[in-house]
Amino acid sequence: MPDVAPTARAHVSAKRYIYAWGAGTAEGHGKMKDLLGGKGAGLAEMTLAGLPTPPGFTITTEACNDYFANGKQLPAGLWDDVLGAMKQVEERSGKGFGDPKNPLLVSVRSGAKFSMPGMMDTVLNLGLNEETLQGLIALTGNERFGWDAYRRFIAMFGRIVMDVPARVVTNPDGSTAEYNRFDDALDAVKHARGAKSDTDLATDALQEVVVAYKAIVREQTGREFPTDVYEQLDLAVKAVFASWFGKRANDYRNSQKIAHDLGTAVNIVTMVFGNMGDDSGTGVAFTRNPNTGEKVLYGEYLTNAQGEDVVAGVRTAPEIAQLAVDMPAAHAEFLRIGQQLEQHYKNVQDLEFTIERGKLYMLQTRDAKRTAAAAVKIAVDMVAEGLITEAEAVARIEPAQVDQLLRAQFDPNARKGAERVAKGLNASPGAAVGRAVFNADVAVEWVARGEKVVLVRVETSPDDFHGMAVAEGILTARGGATSHAAVVARQIGKPCVAGCAELVVDYGTKTARSAESGSSFVEGDWISVDGSTGEVFLSALPTVEARFEDQPELQQILNWADKIRRLQVWANADKPEEAAQALSYGAQGIGLCRTEHMFREGERLEIVRGAILVANVATRAKAKVAAAEALTAEESAALATFDSAMAKLEVLQQGDFEGILAAMSGLPVVVRLIDPPLHEFLPNLEEQLVKVTKAGDAASAEDKELLATIKSMHEQNPMLGLRGCRLGLMIPDFVKIQTRAILNAAVAVKRAGLDPRPEIMIPLVGHVNELIATRALLDAEAEAVVAAAGEEIDFKFGTMIEIPRAVWVADKIAEHAEFFSFGTNDLTQMTFGYSRDDAEGGFLLKYVEDGILPENPFQTLDDVIADEMQMAVDRGRATRPDLKVGICGEHGGDPASIHKCEKIGLNYVSCSPFRVPVARLAAAQAAMSDGAFRDN
Ligand code: ADP
Ligand code: MG
Ligand code: MG
Repeated sequence: MPDVAPTARAHVSAKRYIYAWGAGTAEGHGKMKDLLGGKGAGLAEMTLAGLPTPPGFTITTEACNDYFANGKQLPAGLWDDVLGAMKQVEERSGKGFGDPKNPLLVSVRSGAKFSMPGMMDTVLNLGLNEETLQGLIALTGNERFGWDAYRRFIAMFGRIVMDVPARVVTNPDGSTAEYNRFDDALDAVKHARGAKSDTDLATDALQEVVVAYKAIVREQTGREFPTDVYEQLDLAVKAVFASWFGKRANDYRNSQKIAHDLGTAVNIVTMVFGNMGDDSGTGVAFTRNPNTGEKVLYGEYLTNAQGEDVVAGVRTAPEIAQLAVDMPAAHAEFLRIGQQLEQHYKNVQDLEFTIERGKLYMLQTRDAKRTAAAAVKIAVDMVAEGLITEAEAVARIEPAQVDQLLRAQFDPNARKGAERVAKGLNASPGAAVGRAVFNADVAVEWVARGEKVVLVRVETSPDDFHGMAVAEGILTARGGATSHAAVVARQIGKPCVAGCAELVVDYGTKTARSAESGSSFVEGDWISVDGSTGEVFLSALPTVEARFEDQPELQQILNWADKIRRLQVWANADKPEEAAQALSYGAQGIGLCRTEHMFREGERLEIVRGAILVANVATRAKAKVAAAEALTAEESAALATFDSAMAKLEVLQQGDFEGILAAMSGLPVVVRLIDPPLHEFLPNLEEQLVKVTKAGDAASAEDKELLATIKSMHEQNPMLGLRGCRLGLMIPDFVKIQTRAILNAAVAVKRAGLDPRPEIMIPLVGHVNELIATRALLDAEAEAVVAAAGEEIDFKFGTMIEIPRAVWVADKIAEHAEFFSFGTNDLTQMTFGYSRDDAEGGFLLKYVEDGILPENPFQTLDDVIADEMQMAVDRGRATRPDLKVGICGEHGGDPASIHKCEKIGLNYVSCSPFRVPVARLAAAQAAMSDGAFRDN
């Protein structure tokens, strides 16, 4: 299939807005998704490939944008061009639009560049009225079929194009439920006739339905159902355009970060009929299983049905394998076409087809949405099959999918004892625990106030998207593996159990009850949904971590990513266990080991507090001793207490460092010297005040002294107060013992035959003199340790760049620092002038919502922070060309931020051990110039 240029076409309008296909040829092609939308491009490409498609044409996304730019008027001349294109479709199909003898019917389908479940629904059978209906019946000799097509058309057109509103019922508790009026009318006729399924209705019943439908349109819209087929077409095209800015579509684009100015195309496609009897049918299929990635055709179909029936779950559809039994020739052809399309697109395809009296038509092809597990398996398999390269495989996996694969599963022991409510289809894998809610708006409300919810619906529609997006998981009673709930859940990575037929969901009483097990739950009850097995349990089951070791395909992808990436991936880890975990995830170093965590554990906190209480007195006493001045008794005592506490701490810290340096033998370990303000290690001021006040005269001397110390250390803005290198300069012993502990640990580890590589990091430097003074203190300690040990130790001193002032003088700082590490949490706080704790809990989310900030700068590196980083790197490397620079803020594990780090030219990113696999992938994608890994 050649990558052809679009074929020319005459047009009345100023621009060319129309691309047609049919009779074995197409004017557009598969690469033109921007202009033709995914659906139009796919139809053109399939036609060029010689596959059977019904003739039709696409009105471009540009027409949609011009329509809006034009105050919701079709651009001049467009309608003439549409009429011309319709003429051509009439010729190609051998039928006439509005011709009562030989009527052409079409579908009108939206189609944006990215497949959007939030877009307008498709209108089928357009072109029917009382006259053309008679023609359709005469031509097919099938009266029932004609009326079935007609009633479907009125219902779809009425709801979608004419905006017939839903019937809203207010429940006793004030909540509301919506019902489709056309479904109501159909159910009434079915009920009156004792019909179980739509297919049980005979012609006269369908005629009755049509009368009822037309009455609904009249009552609800105040006008008659349009009989002029061109008016039908005009209204439908405009309705598709309008749907681009509908609420559903807007919400979806916001959640998926799709631009609002892409516009949608409109596809007008000759109808083919799957509802012409038992030799007809319609279906949806994936060329591989989108849940597991297994290479087998996966999907569903219905005989004697039209398009939407399968997706809407009107009848429960058999698996596609059944087609081999029912219509072997059509099945064989479909298999062959599926394989051809897969080879052509080099990707799993999601196909829609219709069989009209034994003849197969292809109606849609697109790259299939898939679960994370399937994405990884398919990518690895396709490399083995020679279909794609390793780099393409890496580019195809989304970082969020890696995240998902490392997400928790239900604890197998807990699930054994749990009460199982019901079992449905395992539509999207993963473990979701939340409180049951039965309405998307309620889901949003509950989540806003901090609850976790599982959205439970009979079935979902695009109107439920906002609820699905915030829910932990989704549970539906109706709809199969290709239902809306299943498709959307897989795409947004939420666990989903669909088609749980035994579950009777009642929106009125907000309950769900299993007809089989008898178990039930009401709104607010905790439920656990296992999207991997399809099971639903009562209560909140505990979960366990997913094991990276058990995922060889994921490891394969990441090994390929490692070959591509330039950035190293390090981890933030404070303990040997964390270091070991980081290593198992592929970390190449420790970028941040926070020593203050070591101060808080067990007996240590008491020792640290003891030292802090006398720290100031002891530090002054030391200065006196150095100046050969005499000490008071109190000073001598304080000094003794302080030194003994410090000595104990030094021993304890050395043990910690030995552990982590041994675990990371041969790899760098960046240890940050004490950073937080000292009050963080003392009891809370208010609590201590209350304690002393309450005790009154009975308060102990110690408690009073503690209170006095806390008061004396109290700061207005501790995060901008005595912390980081400032603290080390005021009370040097803290950082001195830390430096000795680190280097003595290295000596011990080296003597044990390992290869320790400590890098000592000095935090919060703003003025170069702070660094110079700190290094003077610490270099002396280091020399002493090394001299005493008589061992060669490979170590470095470096600094964090986290204060904007340091960025400006990075060239000077680099004279005294052998490495830089960006502390982007502080750098962001201080550059924005936000206190992170106050901002994130307060105005920041509103800022993002209102578009004042494009995103939370504590999650994704702000562009200005990235500029600061670039400046610091450039200045630092001007002084020291081989300066090693990394990032250890939380941004180090965020894919979008990693792309920025690649551009800035950092040497490594460092993130929490758990994010290391994501960072490996993101770093590879950042290294590949295209970086485009979103599927369509
Ligand atoms: P969606 O984007 O929701 O998949 P589609 O436009 O693909 O919407 O159509 C919805 C359903 O209608 C699909 O099952 C599709 O196969 C069917 N359909 C669309 N156009 C035609 C047609 N011309 N003839 C028969 N079925 C059609
Ligand atoms: Mg479709
Ligand atoms: Mg910091």
